[in-house]
Amino acid sequence: MKLSRRYALKSLLSIISYISLSKVSFGNNQILVGKTVIVIGAGISGLVAASTLIQKGANVIILEAKNYIGGRIRTDRSLGAPFEYGAGWIHGPSEDNPIRNLADRTNSSLFVTDDDSCELLNLSGNDIDEKVWDEIEEIWEEIIYDEIDSDTEGSILDAINEYDSNIWSDPNIRWVFSAYEEFNYGGPIHEISAGLIKEMSGFPTADVIFKDGYDKIINLLAKNLQIQTNSIVKSVNYSSTNNITVSTTSKNYECDYVICSVPLGVLKFNSIEFNPALPRYKQDSIENVGFGTVTKLALKFKDQFWDSDVQYYYTVAKETGRWPIWMNYRTFSKEKILMGLCMGDYAKKADLMSKEELIEDGLKVLKNVWEDDVGEVQNVLRTSWLNDPFTKGAYSFPRVDNSEEDFENLAESVDNRLFFCGEHTDLKYLATTHGALYTGIRAAKEVIKANK
Ligand SMILES: Cc1cc2nc3c(=O)[nH]c(=O)nc-3n(C[C@H](O)[C@H](O)[C@H](O)COP(=O)(O)OP(=O)(O)OC[C@H]3O[C@@H](n4cnc5c(N)ncnc54)[C@H](O)[C@@H]3O)c2cc1C
Repeated sequence: MKLSRRYALKSLLSIISYISLSKVSFGNNQILVGKTVIVIGAGISGLVAASTLIQKGANVIILEAKNYIGGRIRTDRSLGAPFEYGAGWIHGPSEDNPIRNLADRTNSSLFVTDDDSCELLNLSGNDIDEKVWDEIEEIWEEIIYDEIDSDTEGSILDAINEYDSNIWSDPNIRWVFSAYEEFNYGGPIHEISAGLIKEMSGFPTADVIFKDGYDKIINLLAKNLQIQTNSIVKSVNYSSTNNITVSTTSKNYECDYVICSVPLGVLKFNSIEFNPALPRYKQDSIENVGFGTVTKLALKFKDQFWDSDVQYYYTVAKETGRWPIWMNYRTFSKEKILMGLCMGDYAKKADLMSKEELIEDGLKVLKNVWEDDVGEVQNVLRTSWLNDPFTKGAYSFPRVDNSEEDFENLAESVDNRLFFCGEHTDLKYLATTHGALYTGIRAAKEVIKANK
């Protein structure tokens, strides 16, 4: 049994020769002295772009809409153990993975989440027979690895139906595709492009979490950077051949270059007005590329009613994407916390539920298994990325009818002065922290090149 968000990608990976962050160097010449660069957004891609540019002598100002930095890397410790609103895992923490490198530099304590340490529970809340489960996984593997290749048209659901038009009615089948694929890619199974997932890649080795919080790497990256929080960028005016004017709700900034690292969801909502408007092809790709959501709910209980040594409880529900995964905090902390996840279309509903509705919805699934043993909830944290005006969803996915070109369009600079980074701009490592980091380096390199 394997569950990692990046499991499907790992087998595609042979040797990754990407540079690790510590090895990033563009020479020592300060060719950007006297130049001002505005970076919009203090997520990992924006921070990395900024720190790369200050090495070249640029005056870099980061404008961040929220009152905190890190964007989709955000840790809350109020439950006694870290709750990650956004990224939780380092996917493939091998030595080539730059996030692993940052974790090492912050002396972070990492914990391998063992996907095989799990209990599978059917619609009635009982253990699923191992033989039945093996068959389900075999079907999943055959479809994802044998049936689908980069030329496959349509969605993953189309590929499932082509394989056997009856199997989607099986709740166990819906579970496996939701927990593995919808979680992995962040979109609903009927919208994710089957062919394009084969263009994505990852790093080897089992996923890990930060026992003391993912945000440690953000704090390291943000050292010595000029970051203005509570600065909501409303417009970028690059119509003059001289300076670019970036306007927030309270102030105008003049600069030579802009790096825009805001999430795809924000671009889709046209929250920032570009003058002149972005080229049509770029606007089309912004519209077309998928941007889904994932909901997390951490329930801290007064008394523990589950085992301490099972990493994940996998619960099958009638509705696809409804709390298929529960992560057991007791395997790595003393806190009696179960963290549930929703994905696909169900996550869109869950994100919009009130806190009370969401708790009730999660508890119903747990009570289906543990019945009256499910006791008092002491404390709760939840996410609602769809409602976040500065993100508008969780992460990007290749949608049916997208092409690789769409992602190139998202990354492409405009007028050699306006540059773009963020997880959505790199199909290969889409929806990951390491992918976002690489795009920050790429955008900074483009600025350096444009200045030559
Ligand atoms: C629920 C969830 C789970 C995830 N799990 C994982 C995981 O386990 N492992 C993994 O590798 N990745 C995971 N990811 C993905 C990962 O978190 C992202 O790919 C990565 O953090 C994105 O970084 P970024 O710099 O592209 O964007 P962001 O971190 O979103 O940064 C963009 C910044 O722009 C700011 N902004 C937006 N609009 C404006 C404006 N108008 N003016 C100024 N600032 C603005 C935002 O506030 C934000 O801080 C997860 C994400 C989510 C949401």
